[in-house]
Amino acid sequence: MLHETDTLPNGLLEADATELKRILGSPTLIHLPGEKREPLFICTLLHGNETTGFYAIQRLLKQYQNKPLPRAVSIFIGNVDAAAVAQRRLDQQPDYNRIWPGTHHDDCAETDMMKTIANIMYKRKTFASIDIHNNTGLNPHYACVNILNPHCIQLAGMFGTTVVYFTSPKGVQSAAFSDFCPAVVLECGQSGQADGVTHSTRYLQAVLNTDKLPSEHPSHINLFHTVARVTVPEIFSLGTDNNADIHLSYDLENMNFEQLGTGSIFAGLKPESEAHLVVTNESSEDITSEFFEIADSKIVLRKNATLSMYTTNERAIRQDCLCYLMEQIHVG
Ligand SMILES: [Zn+2]
Repeated sequence: MLHETDTLPNGLLEADATELKRILGSPTLIHLPGEKREPLFICTLLHGNETTGFYAIQRLLKQYQNKPLPRAVSIFIGNVDAAAVAQRRLDQQPDYNRIWPGTHHDDCAETDMMKTIANIMYKRKTFASIDIHNNTGLNPHYACVNILNPHCIQLAGMFGTTVVYFTSPKGVQSAAFSDFCPAVVLECGQSGQADGVTHSTRYLQAVLNTDKLPSEHPSHINLFHTVARVTVPEIFSLGTDNNADIHLSYDLENMNFEQLGTGSIFAGLKPESEAHLVVTNESSEDITSEFFEIADSKIVLRKNATLSMYTTNERAIRQDCLCYLMEQIHVG
């Protein structure tokens, strides 16, 4: 399933993300030499409709067409099948960012492939790992980490002042790589926006030119901890109109990274319906009643919470979740 190569495939730097299936054929790991041997690992298109990372890699590599890279780079271009049709994943596929070592997913060709890549990059003594994503709702650009050590937070802090620490969902690429190198996920706003490509290109450039990450905790960052994930049971319909079992508010899309206070209305319910949301913590326990109560056909927050990745896009909600709930653990 995995294609591994030491040369840049022809046409890669000019390709559209939808053409990668034709150019590469399958998920591809590309190793390029550089002056420092420990490679920077860059991961993109684990979700096929999140193209910012791929275009940032193109821009980065174009800057080094006539000069050596300051450090070796290994690039993994993930779900080319889904990218061909601009989907997060195909219906029959597992989510490419839930199947890395540490996953609860059953063994399959894709889990084997991710294990192979992690082993290859472990042996190559990876300097740092950067996985680049987009999200569906309105969010600031931010970096995520799965471990709170100084190198990892410094790597995240080079992207911006907002850093999110999470341990669930399991099986994400950054968590697997955190076992052997500093690893971050970049969330670069919505796919297709030019500022996301510019910001992530500059970031890749900066990390590529970093010799050593500082070993103190950075003081300038706002650090959030993802404490829960909100999902919608499949049996309930959802939408932004009153006919749905659960009606969602567009207004909350503007509230990502803002704190909602106790008593805030989170969603509306069809009167007399049994509809509800499900909140799970990092250990997958149901903690819905800690966060939500139902009053007068409305779902109301029982305590303060800060949202991230809230979206009203039904496909995104069904394939992943409605949002995450966070608490702030450091103010920069
Ligand atoms: Zn993603």
